[in-house]
Amino acid sequence: MTIESVDANNHSQIAGLGRRVLDGVNLTRDEALWLFQLENTADIFDLLCWANRIREHFKGNKIHLCSIVNAKAGACSENCSFCAQSSFYQTGSPRYGFVDPEPVQEAAEEANKNGVTAVGLVAAWKGLNEGPMLDEVCDRIRELKAGGKTRPDVSLGIIKNQRVADRLKEAGVECYGHNLESSRRFFARTCTTHSYDDRLGTIGYLKKAGIKICSGGIIGMGETREDRCDLALALKEIGANVVPINILNPIKGTPFENNPPLPVMEILKTIACFRFILPRQEIMIAGGRTVNLRDAQSMIFMAGASALMVGNYLTTLNQPVEKDLQMLKDLGLDPSWDKHGFSDQEENGYDCGKENCEPEVELATMK
Ligand code: SF4
Repeated sequence: MTIESVDANNHSQIAGLGRRVLDGVNLTRDEALWLFQLENTADIFDLLCWANRIREHFKGNKIHLCSIVNAKAGACSENCSFCAQSSFYQTGSPRYGFVDPEPVQEAAEEANKNGVTAVGLVAAWKGLNEGPMLDEVCDRIRELKAGGKTRPDVSLGIIKNQRVADRLKEAGVECYGHNLESSRRFFARTCTTHSYDDRLGTIGYLKKAGIKICSGGIIGMGETREDRCDLALALKEIGANVVPINILNPIKGTPFENNPPLPVMEILKTIACFRFILPRQEIMIAGGRTVNLRDAQSMIFMAGASALMVGNYLTTLNQPVEKDLQMLKDLGLDPSWDKHGFSDQEENGYDCGKENCEPEVELATMK
């Protein structure tokens, strides 16, 4: 058996970086990358302790819960290599058209019963244009909003027109899910039917419409630690409010079906590094949590996570919501997140409101 001890130099370096983050200083890319490269288990536990302190400092004990409804399933025109819903792959995933009001209302009732802040309508298609489908989407959003039970979020793919984003805002959308998935460098290995710039452009329109951004990615696709670091830095730069981290759950029939799972400590370290880079953001652990972390799931909060996707994912199962709520209770964490509370990020300059934001300029610096 090998006994690993904390390297004194690493210990003081991690503590120094942790203190600077607590003081509101941004890490440089080199500093952030150094954290991603930590290998020793004892060092990683040291890192988790600091990530936990940073979470406590900026987010208290509040945990933001979200759930999703698959509002249009399967037969997607895009070829994202991780996705069961792409029409490019034979995966046995269900296919149906845009949902009727009833299942959406049922999801809102269920979310409300469990104290879940938001329900996201997620559609498997390339994107949304003006027309009858946008009208129908806006109807579902208005119904959700009128129900008053939950915050209506959406994830509807690529937008190429400011009017679409404005209409979603008018209908009541507060937050739009649109992942960058990985670094710009790695993106082309995950998808070739649309580009990283299409995604940045969408985020630009949404921000201009005054919609909050839920954007993160997937780890375990074969990307390097450098890719993960650059993803986190890009998410900081675009001003993401919520940052979902998905952990690949390889789907049979997709190009990533045989990807080896990431070690649990690598996953926890990645979450902690994201917390160092994105101290004020909601870092949400989403798809792949149960299957990849197993008994270590509750460690995500010590690693700095402040939000949790509960209920089933789009095409895979999650553990029951009751189990997640019990886990939070056992850890002394409070899921009663303010339904409209992104204010902690705005006060500190991370929100990009309609008046002050020039997304095209800001996002151009990322290329
Ligand atoms: S991730 Fe979204 S855009 Fe890509 S194939 Fe799946 S449903 Fe389509």
